[in-house]
Amino acid sequence: MSEILPENIMDMVLDLCKMNDLITFSFTSRRYFDKVSRVGVWNDIMVNNGFPASLSSASAMAQVIHLHNENGLCERCQHFGSKPITPYTGSKGILQVKFFDGSEKRLCLDCRQTWKQMENEKTIYLPKPLPAKEISVKQARKILAFPHGHPYVNNPVAMLAAALRYHGGYAGIVAALQTSAYMRLHHG
Ligand SMILES: [Zn+2]
Repeated sequence: MSEILPENIMDMVLDLCKMNDLITFSFTSRRYFDKVSRVGVWNDIMVNNGFPASLSSASAMAQVIHLHNENGLCERCQHFGSKPITPYTGSKGILQVKFFDGSEKRLCLDCRQTWKQMENEKTIYLPKPLPAKEISVKQARKILAFPHGHPYVNNPVAMLAAALRYHGGYAGIVAALQTSAYMRLHHG
């Protein structure tokens, strides 16, 4: 973007920016950094996440960027992930969800479990075909990263529905599978 962009145009651009864009944008020049650090959104996000509103806008921005990078930030409810994203985070983290209309959103577990738009999540084909009647419950548990102690579901079709609810969509099942594969590799 040009350095001579007028202020009012820049405000319009900032309004349209998603958090990721805003952070990237702030690092493109000193002027944009100053501009972006003054937008009110940083303190709003901290307050929304239960932090006090007493921070200066610049330090609120620094905190948001830090937590955004460590834990992820849900694009729907503007909550940070509950803990830093590591290979162990599984379906509890902020995950990228792809929709049938081609759009994508980074969403927390709560939004993935409760947001109606999740009905339009793009179907991801899991490592083995599901639902399929010939798969045993034991196999289905493994394919779906179904947690121990979860109420028993007696057929693979119902298990897929339950796993989608529990992990928050296909994105959640895939993340849970990645975590269990990582655990098997590193902890036998
Ligand atoms: Zn959320």
